[in-house]
Amino acid sequence: MPVSREKKRPGYFGEYGGRFAPETLMAPLEELGRAWSRFRRDPRFRAELDSLLRDYAGRPTPITVAENLTRQAGGARIVLKREDLLHTGAHKLNNSLGQVLLAKAMRKSRVVAETGAGQHGVATAAAAAKIGLPCVVYMGVVDMERQAPNVSRMKLLGAEVVGVDSGSRTLKDAINEAMRDWTENVRTTHYVLGSALGPHPYPTLVRELQSVIGKEARSQFRKLAGRDPHAAVACVGGGSNAIGLFSAYLSGSTKLFGVEAGGRGTGPGDHAARFSGGSVGVLHGTRTMLLQDAGGQVLPTHSVSAGLDYPAVGPEHAELARSGRAAYVRVDDADALRAFAALSRTEGIIPALESAHAVAFACQLASEMPRSASILVNLSGRGDKDLAEVERVLRGTQA
Ligand SMILES: *Cc1c(COP(=O)(O)O)cnc(C)c1O
Repeated sequence: MPVSREKKRPGYFGEYGGRFAPETLMAPLEELGRAWSRFRRDPRFRAELDSLLRDYAGRPTPITVAENLTRQAGGARIVLKREDLLHTGAHKLNNSLGQVLLAKAMRKSRVVAETGAGQHGVATAAAAAKIGLPCVVYMGVVDMERQAPNVSRMKLLGAEVVGVDSGSRTLKDAINEAMRDWTENVRTTHYVLGSALGPHPYPTLVRELQSVIGKEARSQFRKLAGRDPHAAVACVGGGSNAIGLFSAYLSGSTKLFGVEAGGRGTGPGDHAARFSGGSVGVLHGTRTMLLQDAGGQVLPTHSVSAGLDYPAVGPEHAELARSGRAAYVRVDDADALRAFAALSRTEGIIPALESAHAVAFACQLASEMPRSASILVNLSGRGDKDLAEVERVLRGTQA
C-alpha cells in the first residue's frame, strides 16, 4: 500500500506503526482508542490526572543547568530535565498514572503490565496502589534475578509479580505473556504498556502521556534562556522519554538526537542500536525498525542498561529517522559508564544508566558546539537501581 494512503490511516507514522494484533485484541484496542479520545478531553479526568502528577508524583520536575559538567565537556551549555526526581525514580510514572487512571475510567477491575529492568513495573504497581486497582506484573526470570530490589518493591506495593520462563526469559517474553493475559481477560483487564510501542493506539497514548516532559521543559527553558535549545537529547529504549521531550520541539528548529545502546560492539547480539543495525519488521503489534536476522528471527540484544535492551523501537522514532527530523546515534557501554561517573562527580547527580547514554552523547556534542549554544538533555531516571550492576561491571564480572 502506498505510503501516502497509509499516512491517513490512524496509528501510522509514515509507513511505520499500525495495529498488527490477533483478532481477539482488535475490539479492545478499538475500545482503548475510543476511551482515550474521550477521556483525554474530559475535564474531570484531566483534573484528576493533573492532581496526581502534581501532588503525588511531584510535577513539575525542575530543569538544572549542569555548570560543572559543561565546563568539563568544554563548549555548549548542558541543561538537564530532571525526570530522575519524579516519584519512583524515572519518567515511567507519567505513563503509568495516566493508563491506570484510564483503566479505572473504563471500569476495568485489574491491570497487567510487563517489565524488564523493573522500573515500569514499579511505576505501575505504585499507580495501581494509589488509584486502587489490583496489578499483575510479568517479568522474565532472568530479569527477576538481575533486578531483585525492584521485585521486592513491586511486591511491597501490592503487585503480584509473575516470572516468565520462556524464550530468553527477559522483556520481550514478558511482553508476550502480558499480551496473552490481556487476550484472555479483555473484559476486566487493561494492559499498561510501558513505552511508545505496540499496536495502535499505544504509541500515541504513551506519547501524549509523556508529552508533559516536553511541555514543561519548553516553557522552563524559555524562561531560563529566552529561546529554545539548539539541541535536545534523550536516550531511546522503546522511545517514550525521548518522544515525550521531542514532541514539544517537532515544529521548531531544535536539533533532536535519540541515543541508542551501542553495547559492547557492532556484531549481532552485542548492542541494541536498531537504527544502525536493524531493518523494517513487525514486533509486538507494530511495524518498525527491528534487530532481526535475514530470516526475520528477532536477534538477541545487549546493553549495560536494561531499559535500553530491547530489539525494536517505537514507530514514531522510525519515521522521525526516515524524515531526518531526528538523528539517532549510539553510545557504547564504556562511554555510558564514564558519563555515569562524570555526572555523579561533577553535579552530584547519579543518573540511571539509560540516561547516562544521553549524557555521554550530550558531552560529545557540547564539545563540538560554541559556548553560546545550549543542549537540553532528558535525565530520564536516577541511578540508585543501577549501583549493583555498575559495581559488577567495574569488577569485571559482567555476565
Ligand atoms: C525504561 C527507561 C528508559 C527507556 O524507556 P523509553 O521508553 O525509551 O523512555 C530510559 N530511562 C529510564 C530511567 C528508564 O527507566
